[in-house]
Amino acid sequence: MYVFTPPAQASLAVAGTSDRFPVRRIFCVGRNYAAHAREMGKDPDREAPFFFTKPADAALDTPCTVPYPPLTEDLHYEIELVIAIGKGGSNVRENDVMEHVWGASVGVDLTRRDLQAEAKEAGRPWDWAKGFDKSAPIAPIVPIADVTSVEQGRIWLAVNGVTRQDADLSDLIWSVREHVSILSQAMELAPGDIIMTGTPAGVGAVSPGDVITGGVDGIGTLEVTIGSK
Ligand code: MN
Repeated sequence: MYVFTPPAQASLAVAGTSDRFPVRRIFCVGRNYAAHAREMGKDPDREAPFFFTKPADAALDTPCTVPYPPLTEDLHYEIELVIAIGKGGSNVRENDVMEHVWGASVGVDLTRRDLQAEAKEAGRPWDWAKGFDKSAPIAPIVPIADVTSVEQGRIWLAVNGVTRQDADLSDLIWSVREHVSILSQAMELAPGDIIMTGTPAGVGAVSPGDVITGGVDGIGTLEVTIGSK
């Protein structure tokens, strides 16, 4: 018997059906495109992949409106390929990774960039920068059988119709097979885990009233409106 009614299971829409994908955890890959690593002042050739997390209930369906979050004056978009895990496992070999993938989508890793810069400077965790409420708007999940490729395809984002990020999944430093295999060495993957796979160059700030559009060719598109403070 729970002492109060448990919160609803976090979930995301599934493309083409009313079924829902139950979200267990959200893992995010840091600096997984060389040009973005460079724009953040890092050398992409010298880093192993690293991860951070967002709460499961930071995920929300698109199209949506995300209220401009508190504590920041520098809210940034980051368009990302999203991988949805359907079968758990530890120490998954690269060649077996796709057997664990239920689907793919596209999402925005919303970031309070000023808080992230403060955290980096002070050697503190990134949670306040990355894991705030509604920080992970994600398009409907597409079953992997209907996905053209998670290894190549244009990934792009526009703000108010002006293109800001434009790259290709083939630019990923650590491919899906590689980084999911590496993740599974640190944590036992479970059905419902979501992986946001990193953003290409061109990140920037948005303001209340801005409309973000974005997509990954062959997977999906999304639209996110930034609401008032
Ligand atoms: Mn990101």
